[in-house]
This record gives sequence, C-alpha cells and structure tokens, in this order.
Amino acid sequence: MQFTDLLLESTNETLLGNRMLGEIVQATGSRELWSERSTSDPDVTVIHYSSAILRYPEAPFSLEHILSIFCEYGVSSHFLIDRTGMVYRLVPIEKKAWHCGGSIMPEPDNRQAVNDFSIGIELMATARSGFTTRQYEALAQLCIENERIVGHTMQYVGHDIIAGERAVTLGLRTDVKTDPGSLFQWNLFYGMLSSRRSAAS
Ligand SMILES: [Zn+2]
Repeated sequence: MQFTDLLLESTNETLLGNRMLGEIVQATGSRELWSERSTSDPDVTVIHYSSAILRYPEAPFSLEHILSIFCEYGVSSHFLIDRTGMVYRLVPIEKKAWHCGGSIMPEPDNRQAVNDFSIGIELMATARSGFTTRQYEALAQLCIENERIVGHTMQYVGHDIIAGERAVTLGLRTDVKTDPGSLFQWNLFYGMLSSRRSAAS
C-alpha cells in the first residue's frame, strides 16, 4: 500500500501547490481538523467519496483543491485515497474526524453521531466516475490494517446509509448524502476484505 502522512494540522509544512497545508489549516482558525473521541474504540468505518468538481471541474481530483475545500468547510476524514490508490492519512485514527455530521446507524444499532465511533475514508471520485481497481485494492488493504490496529473487525457503512432520508426525517441533518452511491461495488470490496483476512490469518 502506498501511504503518505498528510495530517490536517497547522504545523504541517507540506507544500500543496504554492501554499503549505498548515497555512490552509490555520486559515480555518483551528489548530487541526479533528477532536477527541468519547470512545477509544472505533468499531465502524464509513466509506465516502469526494472531489473538487463543483468548483474546479477541470481538476476534480486535485489533492490541493480537495484539501482546501475540506479546510474551508471544516470537514475531515481519517484517510483519503486518490485515483492511483495512494493513501493519505489526514487524521490519526485515535482522534475524531469530522466526516459524517448528523448521522444514525442502521437498525437495530441506531447509534447517532457516528463520527464519535467511526473511521472515515474518502475515495476520490465523482457521482459519475466510479472507482478505480487500485482504489478498491488500497481501501481493502487499509481497512485490514486498521482492523489489525484496533484489534477487531469493523462494520462498514456508506455515508448514504447513515446520513440519508432517515437521518433527515429524524431531524439530525437537513441534506441527504448520496456517497459512495450505487457505483461503489460493495460485493467487490467485501470479497477483497475476506480474501485479505484469510491471507493474514
Ligand atoms: Zn460523505
């Protein structure tokens, strides 16, 4: 797995275009784009996609643009996987990233505020692009590594599952999330997870 540390904190001196990432974070008024969890044991992973297509239709998968938009809106995720399968770690998994806001787990779980007990993974994609094979491979490998770190298997949900119509009806949020959507191949992902789990055991 190709892996790059790119923590969303004000001291990060990594150059993105002609600005340091830390400067972009500082412009939010925060020292970092995460907070403390009330649980030390995340047991859910939320799959998302994001891109910069609304503002930069010519460069939807620009890392610089996507992270700038995260900072501008005060959102974050633990990991971002680009189209080539490069995994960027944006937030330490022991911290709470801000990736799913108003949310509720499916029945019968029904826990709310899923950020508190989840790991968020963003795949670079648009509503129509679908996902690359390298993204699925990197995602599966990353999830197996996260399971190894937390010491147990995780439950996997899409942002659309926990922040869809039900969350709106319950007054937890005003908009319906549609990512990762119908183009995300859950069966392919679960197949990759189980073959990697059996290879690791
Ligand atoms: Zn999302």
